[in-house]
Formats: sequence, structure tokens, C-alpha cells
Amino acid sequence: TAFEIEYERRAALSRKLFTRASQVIPGGAGSSARTVGFGWHPYPPFIAEGRGSRLRDVDGNEYIDYLLGLGPMILGHRHPVVTRAVADAIDEYGTCFGLPYELEIEAAEKVVDAVPGIDQVRFTNSGSEAVGTAVRLARATTGRRLVIRFEGHYHGWQDVVYWSNHVDPELAGPADQPRPVPSGPGVPLELSDTLIVLSWNDPESFVRVMRERGDEVAAVITEAAVFNTGCILPEPGYLQLLRDVTREYGALLIFDEVITGFRFARGGAQEYFGVTPDLTTLAKGLGGGFPVAAIGGTLDAMRLIAEGRYSHSGTYNANVIQCAAVSATMDVLAEPGLYERQRALGDRLADGLRALTAERGIDAYVEGLGTVFQLWFANRPIKNWRDASAYADEAMFTRWFQEMLLRGVLFHPLQFENLFVSLVHTDSDIDETLTAAADALTAAVR
Ligand code: PLP
Repeated sequence: TAFEIEYERRAALSRKLFTRASQVIPGGAGSSARTVGFGWHPYPPFIAEGRGSRLRDVDGNEYIDYLLGLGPMILGHRHPVVTRAVADAIDEYGTCFGLPYELEIEAAEKVVDAVPGIDQVRFTNSGSEAVGTAVRLARATTGRRLVIRFEGHYHGWQDVVYWSNHVDPELAGPADQPRPVPSGPGVPLELSDTLIVLSWNDPESFVRVMRERGDEVAAVITEAAVFNTGCILPEPGYLQLLRDVTREYGALLIFDEVITGFRFARGGAQEYFGVTPDLTTLAKGLGGGFPVAAIGGTLDAMRLIAEGRYSHSGTYNANVIQCAAVSATMDVLAEPGLYERQRALGDRLADGLRALTAERGIDAYVEGLGTVFQLWFANRPIKNWRDASAYADEAMFTRWFQEMLLRGVLFHPLQFENLFVSLVHTDSDIDETLTAAADALTAAVR
């Protein structure tokens, strides 16, 4: 295609590195989300450096970055305060003790202060780990085994939740009573007995299932706003319904805020929507780009860990790099007016894209909240995975992605991911993006 020819021309050094990488790294990249099967066609750009809101690849192409590491670079690349804090902490303390230390308390206090549903928190290494802990803790706490999860949500790669993310609706059965489908090979099918999968934003099916089996349900896990099927916001009252009904049946409500944490508001989606879960998982934004995750919850929900009746362990949990990064990131995020300013910036980008698609008669709409959103190419609103798989125009999204990439604007190539705006993107980044978008959309409809 014309894109491939142009891309190969401007990414010759990336091509070389991809060939070399593919010898020693399966798929040529460290995560399957970074390589060919995930839309990075014909191969991903290899990055030379990130700085603030920008990335430069090894061929010298510069991009305004809305990929943001798939979410963690909430403060942009190499934020001086966080980078300095981590380097200083390593100099001052070391990296890993296998014992507690004071900076860990400081980091925990700041997270507890920020997030409404968190009275106590444990730091760990990745979102997948945090989710695995949350689910098992909920089972241990309630003495029940069923977990309800929703189609199109992604909760990491652990067996217990690696189900029904982007499954073919034909395999998954009727929308009001989907059957669990593993998201990839290798997941023991016996685990399907421990899961109920539902369509999101569908109050009736949720209430019906809880009425039938609520007494067996340990937990309901949900993204508080969905960012693994493009962007889908909860319909008014839906999160509150999940809250009320789980409480009624003694099941725990887990908000997986790995993406939404610290994003719409300092206290995440739970602050923004005003609904407080029992357990919360955090990662991505939490460490300002350093690898850290957390499981937090109310005193009741964390009690088994506190009393030593549930062993949550991990050699690298709460290491110095993590706690220094969390502590510094929480300080930066506490700046008054930061979120309002950032939402206004994200809204300007979203409004600009709305106007550009409308002027061109393209069926599209923007869904999101300030610092994370998606441009849906669809002729009707999408409220869950079934809608997305039926109505989203993925081919149009690919063309738009490609035209933007060639114009120096980078985001994930798939319609079912989203665009992140950091807290250091500027008005001129937005202006440049909209200028590129005007041309790119015109080219993409051809
Ligand atoms: N939960 C959600 C909502 C996510 O988006 C992700 C990753 O994208 C995860 C969990 C898994 O986190 P990690 O990739 O850090 O294991």
C-alpha cells in the first residue's frame, strides 16, 4: 500500500532494528501489544527518546505522543520532578530491602489521601498482579467463588480474568447471557465455572444474574469507564447500580482503575463518578512512568491482609524506585487546577476532532474525559463490546492512524485502544494535532 511504501522509506532504521530484534525477542518486541499482530504494521517504530509530550524514533521522526506508553506517562516523558526523586532515592537508600521503610509509608499515605475508596494500600509491580490479588482476596474475604466480569474489559493476563475481552460474539452466544470465552490459548477451561460474563451498561442482565446467583458471587470486577474497548463511559446510574446490588448480596465491588486512576480526577473514576468500590486496582498513572501498581481498599476489604490471614507477597513489592515514583507523582498531581486545565485541553482536542469529522460528513464521535478518549468511527453510539464489534469501522480507524502517523502524531493503531493526553501536553500540541487531523481525515475518507 502507499502507506507501507512511505513508512518503509521513513523508518528504514526501525526496519533494521525490527529484523534484529525478531531474532532474539519473539515478535520483535517486549509485549504482544507492541508488534505486528496488534496493529503495528508492517513493524513498529523503534524509539530513540521521549521528552515531555514528544517521542523521537531512531530514524529521527518526531511525534506528538498520545500513546504515552499505553497510559503510564501521565506526566509526559522524563518529568524532571519524578525522575529526580527516583534517582535521589536510589542514591540515598538503595533499591530493595525485603523489609519496610519510611518512604513506603509516605507513598501509601499520599495514595490513601487521593483515592476515596482506599483506606489501605499495598504496592506491587503490574496491573495484572494487582488484579490477581484483588480477585483472590475477594474470594477469600467472602468465602465464595463466582466472579462477574464484563465483555470487552481487560483486566490483565492472569488466568482468572483473561476471558471474554475481544471475543467473537458468535462464540460468546447471546448478548444478554454471554458464555465465557478465554482471551487466548493456554487458559484452563475449568475456570469458566468460576466466572459469569455479562454485557456492560446493561442493568437488566446484571440485576437478573444477581437475583439468581448473587449469594454465590465473591466479586464484580469492572473498569469504571471502559478503555479497553475504545472508550465507553458508564451510562448514568450504572456504576451506582453495581454498587447498590453488590452491597445487597454481600459481594465485593472491584474497580479496575489501572487506566482511569489519577486520570479524570486525582481520585480517579471513583471520585469523578462519585461511586466508591470495596477494592481498587491501580497501575499506569500511579508511578508517573515507573513500573508500579497497587491494590487498595476499604479497611474491611483489606482486613484479611492486615490480619495476616491472606498472604499477599512479592519480592519487588514496594521497592524504592516504586515508592519514590509514587510519592513524587502524587505531589505533582496535587497541584491545584491541574485537572481542570488538562480536561479543558483534552476537550479542545475532542471538540476539534468532532468539528473536523462533522465538516467532512464522516460517521464518527469522540468519547472520553479530558486526558483519555477515543475517536469512534461509527454511525451510532457504542455502549459495550457487542456494539463495538458490530458498528465500529476499524478499517477507517487504520487509515486515520496511518495518515496521522505520517504527519507526526502517534497513538495506538487500533480502534479498540485510546488516546492519552498527558499533563504536559500544551495548547500548541493540540493546535498542531488538529492541523494534522484536518488533512489526515480528508485523506482517510478517500
Ligand atoms: N487492567 C486494566 C484496566 C488495564 O488496562 C491493564 C493493562 O492495560 C491491566 C489491568 C493490566 O495491567 P499491566 O499491563 O500493568 O499488567
